[in-house]
Amino acid sequence: MRYFKYSNSTIYKTTFNVRLIKGFIPVSSRYPVQLTDYYSSLIKHQNDAIWKQCMPDVRELEDQSQCPDPLDETALSPVPGLIHRYPDRVVLLVSRRCPVYCRFCMRKRLVGSGDAPMGEDELLNAIDYISTHPSITDVILSGGDPLMLDDSSLLKILTGLRAIPHVVIIRIGTRVPVTFPARITSELCSLLNRFHPLYINTHFNHPDEITTDSSRACELLVNTGIPLGNQTVLLKGVNDSIETMRNLMIGLLAIRVKPYYLHQMDLVQGTAHFRTSVQTGLKIMRGLRGYISGLAIPHYVIDLPGGKGKVAILPDDIEIRGTTLHLRTYSGEQVTYQDISD
Ligand SMILES: *Cc1c(COP(=O)(O)O)cnc(C)c1O
Ligand code: SF4
Repeated sequence: MRYFKYSNSTIYKTTFNVRLIKGFIPVSSRYPVQLTDYYSSLIKHQNDAIWKQCMPDVRELEDQSQCPDPLDETALSPVPGLIHRYPDRVVLLVSRRCPVYCRFCMRKRLVGSGDAPMGEDELLNAIDYISTHPSITDVILSGGDPLMLDDSSLLKILTGLRAIPHVVIIRIGTRVPVTFPARITSELCSLLNRFHPLYINTHFNHPDEITTDSSRACELLVNTGIPLGNQTVLLKGVNDSIETMRNLMIGLLAIRVKPYYLHQMDLVQGTAHFRTSVQTGLKIMRGLRGYISGLAIPHYVIDLPGGKGKVAILPDDIEIRGTTLHLRTYSGEQVTYQDISD
């Protein structure tokens, strides 16, 4: 399998003198740095929301408290490259490359390390595992970024999965529409069009990422009949305010992308400086519900350490006394609701 060929524009092309970033060399030698021309063109000034997501920070090396693989993905891999945590769905890690290496990445331990995507043997092994486990109905391609593979490699993977009768849906998790929208071509869309029901979850974190180019990429995918969802990571100093999150979620609906998850930061080593409290996340969720379209509201989830899975957390606006519910509305009014007993 091969990666997509593209001109590998580097960070040094930005108009900012990134060599002046404190710890640039040691950080980038531990955790790779890579940008596309497109994504770096979105930076308006040093330390803005785009900068923080893609430029190395010396605090990545200072964070020793957290763990490289807190979700125990390695332990949950029955065969290399496959994570099997829930009975009916698996994650297939088909690529270790991304157009941009996000500094907060939950797979920081993997991305950008080594050039080889999943080898042919590994892929056949993983497909064999899926085909011998009839409980698996939902396969999620992830990585790195699956859309960094070239079209013929993607075709091979998707064809292999579609040949398994019990695989109902295939999902692709990709940040390519956000960081490298030019990769979404009409050729790629005609390829994907052969594998419905196919779902794509993309990864916008900030309203500044919604541009003419990223909107066009999403439009091409949606027009191919692929439902587009979005997973946002709650990031300190990037999107941890009600106003930013409202603009992001509403902006996504306007480009036909349905907000799916808002992720509490995982406890991944090298990312502690992005972590907010869960209270901040709940405050933001309270600032969404009722104020903006219900369609724009994601599930706020914590992916529990130790591979225990995702848990949705909700603002605490209900108190149950017997069959009487005391509920708080979005505007803060206390209302009682009479339940029945079964
Ligand atoms: C998040 C995740 C899934 C998918 O979960 P959904 O809630 O169905 O989106 C599946 N497997 C693993 C290991 C995951 O982390
Ligand atoms: S695109 Fe996704 S997998 Fe790649 S570095 Fe960013 S968060 Fe990690």
